[in-house]
Amino acid sequence: MGYYDQHMHTHFSPDSAESFENYLEQTDGLLVTTEHLDFHDAYNGGVDTVLDYAAYSDKIDALNAIHDGRIRRGIEVGYTPESHARIMSYLEGKTFDVILLSVHQNGRYDYLQPIIDEMDPKAVMQEYFQLCTEAVRQVDGANIFAHFDYGIRRLPVTVDDLREFEPLLKGLLNAIMAKEMALELNTRSMYEYNNADLYRYMIGLYLEMGGSRFSLGSDAHSIQKYRYHFDDAIALLHELSVTELTLFKNKMAYTEKI
Ligand SMILES: [Zn+2]
Ligand SMILES: [Zn+2]
Repeated sequence: MGYYDQHMHTHFSPDSAESFENYLEQTDGLLVTTEHLDFHDAYNGGVDTVLDYAAYSDKIDALNAIHDGRIRRGIEVGYTPESHARIMSYLEGKTFDVILLSVHQNGRYDYLQPIIDEMDPKAVMQEYFQLCTEAVRQVDGANIFAHFDYGIRRLPVTVDDLREFEPLLKGLLNAIMAKEMALELNTRSMYEYNNADLYRYMIGLYLEMGGSRFSLGSDAHSIQKYRYHFDDAIALLHELSVTELTLFKNKMAYTEKI
């Protein structure tokens, strides 16, 4: 089993207190953490959430020296149109094995904030999926599009609702494929926010369009969610005749059988 959880956070992200050491105890295999980069972070009171790259690198180097190089470097880039230039300049000259691309907010509020509950779900979906498509088109060098359902996690969205946005979703998937990125199965989205049926629909659409790159990520912020429901997500992929996952080392894609 060569694949590993490709979306996890440690205390290098402001919303996690977990340590590398605790994750290392969960496995003898490879690990990657994907720490937050969110400028003007609405979820964090509007401050910039910026990964301390030097400290992160030093910590990984020190642990890798005694743990057979098992830790890879990752980052989760949160896109807004306003932060595009700052994102690109932050990434310049830094080395990551994998870059996740996410949309968490629209520059005014995060899609997990309660204000969403008062809004028209269809308007939120329209705005959110448009922002996702723009993110993929604008940010070069990202490897995985994370949690396509983040913006609708708080909303009671059904597969039929998603179907209304099929042209927009196809545009998003086209952009993902054009950038040779992988589509993430976010297992907390699927089994904690109960959006597995939305993922089944989205994966079906992606496969129909010729998509083949899948990534599995728990989005763990603590070891309790490490590889969260991976067996269920893999069973779903098998049902859809998907037999491999895409992993990234030094931003180069390779596959592992499931
Ligand atoms: Zn995220
Ligand atoms: Zn995350």
